Amino acid sequence: MKFNVILACGGMGERCGLGYNKLLLNVGGIPLLEKTLNCFCHNDISKIVIAYNKNDKSAIEKITEGRDEIILCEGGTSRSQSIANALKFVEDNCDFVIIHDGARCFLPKECLERGMQEAVEYGNSVLYVNSVDSLRIVDEIKSQPIERSKIVRVQTPQIFKKDEITKAYALADGKDFSDDATLYEEYIKKPIRLTYGSEENIKVTTPSDCKNLNGGLLIGNGWDTHRLDFGRKLILGGVQIPHDKGLVAHSDGDVLIHAIMDAILSAMHERDIGILFPDTDNKFKDISSVKLLQEVLKLARSKGLAVKTVSAVIMAQKPKLSPHIPAIQKNLADIMGIEENCVSISATTTEKLGMAGREEGISVSSVATLYKI
Ligand code: MG
Repeated sequence: MKFNVILACGGMGERCGLGYNKLLLNVGGIPLLEKTLNCFCHNDISKIVIAYNKNDKSAIEKITEGRDEIILCEGGTSRSQSIANALKFVEDNCDFVIIHDGARCFLPKECLERGMQEAVEYGNSVLYVNSVDSLRIVDEIKSQPIERSKIVRVQTPQIFKKDEITKAYALADGKDFSDDATLYEEYIKKPIRLTYGSEENIKVTTPSDCKNLNGGLLIGNGWDTHRLDFGRKLILGGVQIPHDKGLVAHSDGDVLIHAIMDAILSAMHERDIGILFPDTDNKFKDISSVKLLQEVLKLARSKGLAVKTVSAVIMAQKPKLSPHIPAIQKNLADIMGIEENCVSISATTTEKLGMAGREEGISVSSVATLYKI
């Protein structure tokens, strides 16, 4: 089967408040429109028609330069008119037309595949997701609940037989519809096949959508080593571990929390704990590292950041740490206020090699991811 794509890019993107079309927004180093185009790299798709807003013509020409599979056409004054114009440019011999919002740049490949397969099987396909919010219908006087299970949120792509959607748009004769499925039903009178889409397939619409586009995870690394000696408690992740030796330090020597703190600070582009909590300062003498971690978390929050995940590897020949890992993970998750499955701690010996192998000390390597709140 041969598919063509129409990308509805005729809007101004004004609701994002950027002062320019959101399709030109930088998303991970490329314009949002280019990211959307990349969703349609597929063997069965031979042409992509972009219905653009004339203000963006030169920018869109630049983005699509050298891509022979792309045809540009000027959009109309409404979405429906833009699609009607674009339909004139699809290939005569294509079987299906995939109509998609230019601003849905996160369309997962499996959703597109599912839609294409169901369109072939059922004659059309319209992606949807369930509503996670409770819904109410409102008028000027009152509001009433709507049964959520009876509601779906419709997305794009919406995929139709080329001949049918062309006929539907010809019959619509410029009349505006909120989406292609509604127009198709109105004029073709066939049922719509709803195909499950994805929550990832968002339509970038509001300023907060734009803000979140480049607000991916921040990642940081941390490492720490402490010397083992007799007469000290062994504390790892705030949990006391039975052992004949403990870690020597100005603080309680919790090497695991130290490495985690450095990973969090690194993700925040802050300096390390040696600078934040110097071992020359008496107020940190024998301090519980949990308190220091709480300070680091406070600093993160003051910068609008929160920890998403923490991962660490403890390198210790002895004691055997495996039985203590669940308690350590739970304790760290509680301190950081995150789910237990977001804290992954593992332990390894170093095969009796090196400092850890000779039981002279314990090292920890850690990685943390943070997100903007
Ligand atoms: Mg340390």
